[in-house]
Amino acid sequence: MKKQFIAGNWKMNLTLEEAGNLAKRLRDELANINKVDVGVCPSFIFLRDVCKILQGSKIYVGAQNMYLEKSGAFTGEVSGVMLKDVGCTHVIIGHSERRMFFQETNSIINSKLKTAYSCDLNPILCVGEKQEERDADKTEEVVGIQLSEGLDGLTSEQVERLTIAYEPVWAIGTGKTATPEQANEVHAYIRGIIENRYGKDVAQSIRIQYGGSVKSSNAEELLGQPEIDGALVGGASLDSDSFLDIVSVAIKLS
Ligand code: PEP
Repeated sequence: MKKQFIAGNWKMNLTLEEAGNLAKRLRDELANINKVDVGVCPSFIFLRDVCKILQGSKIYVGAQNMYLEKSGAFTGEVSGVMLKDVGCTHVIIGHSERRMFFQETNSIINSKLKTAYSCDLNPILCVGEKQEERDADKTEEVVGIQLSEGLDGLTSEQVERLTIAYEPVWAIGTGKTATPEQANEVHAYIRGIIENRYGKDVAQSIRIQYGGSVKSSNAEELLGQPEIDGALVGGASLDSDSFLDIVSVAIKLS
């Protein structure tokens, strides 16, 4: 059985002190964790400090985004080379907030994924449908296009290292959660696409996280689904107790 992967997306939240305290608490509480993979994704500006705090621990640090070029005249952007340099192992690519507020297309996301691999970062690719797309019964079509265009040109070896986060946009930060059955169904569909394109082994080893208002009270039913291999947690990852509770559920189920 593969390890569940619980990652916290801190988004544009916390002060430096709060981020440091949260990282220290997770480091101390999860010092001996081995049944579950855990990661945190702080804002760019806190990455170096959080990486230092978590150095030598078992907790991964990821960025929430990166630019598609490795260096150059791109004022205000941060490259994968820089992320690797400060100690990141992961990077979230194509979060729905990036797609929605920063016009990230599947083609941009595809370029970012390729650059992330070339910087030796492990991407977490977010996919998911909007409410109106679900209502129009277009979930599979939307997620299918996000995957086929997003993964275009990637090798099986690269896709094997990928984490996919299925995050229905209507469930992010809204308190609405997909039912475990709804989530499991889309996860199975995603795994089927991966199997068709990259074969059974890759499909079985890739981890598909669920994201969208995951909290300690719903973690067990979601993480207990056979196709769900972890969670990308937004709001509930900002509080150490609630994030640790979700990690404990994953440990209990492993
Ligand atoms: C997210 O932003 O990836 C997310 C899932 O947020 P929340 O848990 O707050 O819905």
